Amino acid sequence: MSAPDLVIDGCAVVTVDDAGTEHRTGWVSVRGNRIDALGAGRAPDFGAGVARIDGRGCLLTPGLVNTHHHLYQWITRGLAADNTLFEWLQKLYPVWARIDEKSVRVAATGALVSLARTGCTTSSDHHYVFPRGGGDLLAAEIGAAATVGLRFHPTRGSMDLGESQGGLPPDEVVESIDDILAASTAAIEQWHDPSFDAMVRIALAPCSPFSVTGDLMRESAALARSAGVRLHTHLAETVDEEQFCRDKFGCTPAEYMERLGWVGDDVWFAHAVHLDDPAIATMARTGTGVAHCPTSNGRLGAGIARTAELVAAGVPVGLGVDGAASNESSSMLEEPRNALLYARAVGGPRAMTVRTALELATMGGARVLGRETEIGSIEPGKLADLALWRLDTPAHAGIDDPVVALVLGSAPPLAALLVNGREVVRDGVVTTVDEDAVGADVAQAQAVLVAGG
Ligand SMILES: [Zn+2]
Repeated sequence: MSAPDLVIDGCAVVTVDDAGTEHRTGWVSVRGNRIDALGAGRAPDFGAGVARIDGRGCLLTPGLVNTHHHLYQWITRGLAADNTLFEWLQKLYPVWARIDEKSVRVAATGALVSLARTGCTTSSDHHYVFPRGGGDLLAAEIGAAATVGLRFHPTRGSMDLGESQGGLPPDEVVESIDDILAASTAAIEQWHDPSFDAMVRIALAPCSPFSVTGDLMRESAALARSAGVRLHTHLAETVDEEQFCRDKFGCTPAEYMERLGWVGDDVWFAHAVHLDDPAIATMARTGTGVAHCPTSNGRLGAGIARTAELVAAGVPVGLGVDGAASNESSSMLEEPRNALLYARAVGGPRAMTVRTALELATMGGARVLGRETEIGSIEPGKLADLALWRLDTPAHAGIDDPVVALVLGSAPPLAALLVNGREVVRDGVVTTVDEDAVGADVAQAQAVLVAGG
């Protein structure tokens, strides 16, 4: 057997495998883009030609998986900070109507750099604003993800229900069904990679019940299923949305989705805050997943999802930061912490364990994106998406349990982040881009967009 390319040695290892395997001191080796082997104690001597990361004082976990985001919002942070979802949307739609290929690339780069700095190795994105003449916005964000080096699941989102038709968004930011379906087909053909170690996979994602028609939902589902890609949308985020659905469709948002054929193990909903018991049962029976976004739900006062009940029922649950316009930090590590705190605040001390919170941020996200055999846990043969957290600084040294330190302590610096076996972060700094230049570009793009210049 030949030697691996890299070994991470001397760290605590929390694998998040089915058996819950953990080592207080352990090692993990990487060959190419895959995890090769792991074990307890110090690593075997693989010889002088093997790269080595000294993991002493650190915790190694699977990279975190972000199941819901809107990268373009990185340049519209700090606006409408004290509004309801519908008020917030109506203030922001006119700003978003001015985005273009260049500003989306800058925003996506900034957002992805921030995700990498907080341990995220795979991110989804829900892009649904395509202003006429704005250029190829999907290509812009896919280019940004390739530059930063994260595994990426962009969705071709859409809106076709403008204000004049009884929807929420202004007419200038909606598209026709024909244009949306043509662009969706093109996106799948150009970008979707079904292979085991894919760095880009596409899904289709009409935006929400109050911004798309039922026809678009049905036709998007038919297209996605014929092409073998997944389906994503916002659902049951606020009580206002529930009222909208009751008034317009005579049913709850979840019942509306079932009526449209939008349930199944190829579907995941962002938020799913306001679900009744039958909705949870339907999602469990059909394998429909949830991107739980506790920080955004708190920022917008949307409510607290029934996460403990969803997990107990067997619904696939992952975590998401949601767009930065409703979560200025967009820290992937804040999501397991907030998921746990919210779950316990409403459900008591046993509503969610610390290890379940970490599992939602890793394997849970992998399941929601349909990649549970490839990412989400540290097991030989899986892809080398790994986060090495420093727990030896004054903020964490002496916390007895490394998983508690990670989930309940302040955010620790990353000693290293590997994606597909490639280093993206070292000593807390993203090494694939010039971070200072990214910050300057974001500030300039924000000034131009928000000032309307
Ligand atoms: Zn969202």
